[in-house]
Amino acid sequence: MTRDITDFIRTIPDFPQKGVMFRDVTTLFGNPEGMKLAVAQIVDAFKDTEITAVAGLEARGFIIGGAVAERLGTGFVPLRKKGKLPGKTLSEDYTLEYGTATIEVHDDALKAGDKVLLIDDLIATGGTAAAGIKLVERLGATVVHAAFIIDLPDLGGAQVVRDLGVPVTALCAYD
Ligand code: IMP
Repeated sequence: MTRDITDFIRTIPDFPQKGVMFRDVTTLFGNPEGMKLAVAQIVDAFKDTEITAVAGLEARGFIIGGAVAERLGTGFVPLRKKGKLPGKTLSEDYTLEYGTATIEVHDDALKAGDKVLLIDDLIATGGTAAAGIKLVERLGATVVHAAFIIDLPDLGGAQVVRDLGVPVTALCAYD
């Protein structure tokens, strides 16, 4: 029997705060069948495209993005939280539910003409992904597609990304 991506995702109520249903992909990453299924579904969607690099958002986007990059035969570019990258960086601020955050990329991580697949585990409001797209595009590269394991459509993030001209793929969705 073929199993579904959602079979491997655990939901933890009231994390990180009361009222939030946290979709936990560590159970998917920790299961050989789950990891294989998620990587295969993303790779299958993009294997015949002209992607030249995969960019992943810290931290769970590194896990799935790294595996996808290896299978697509591209390099991997980490989009990291502020202050972690050792070289010269560009930064982009974005809004969280409470306060702001900053992500950074090395200024030589991509070049003009690169066609980038942006990857994260989950899209909610789209603020993180939009900041990632802006960073990649400031390097002269193009985000040709954004892929997520999970979409939370009620929060509208996939539409925010599409409004930036970037198509979105998600392996599953939760209301
Ligand atoms: P957004 O910026 O509102 O789209 O939030 C997406 C970011 O928050 C991603 O980097 C996710 O890893 C993280 N995130 C938000 N909610 C969840 C969740 O329920 N499970 C896992 N990650 C989440």
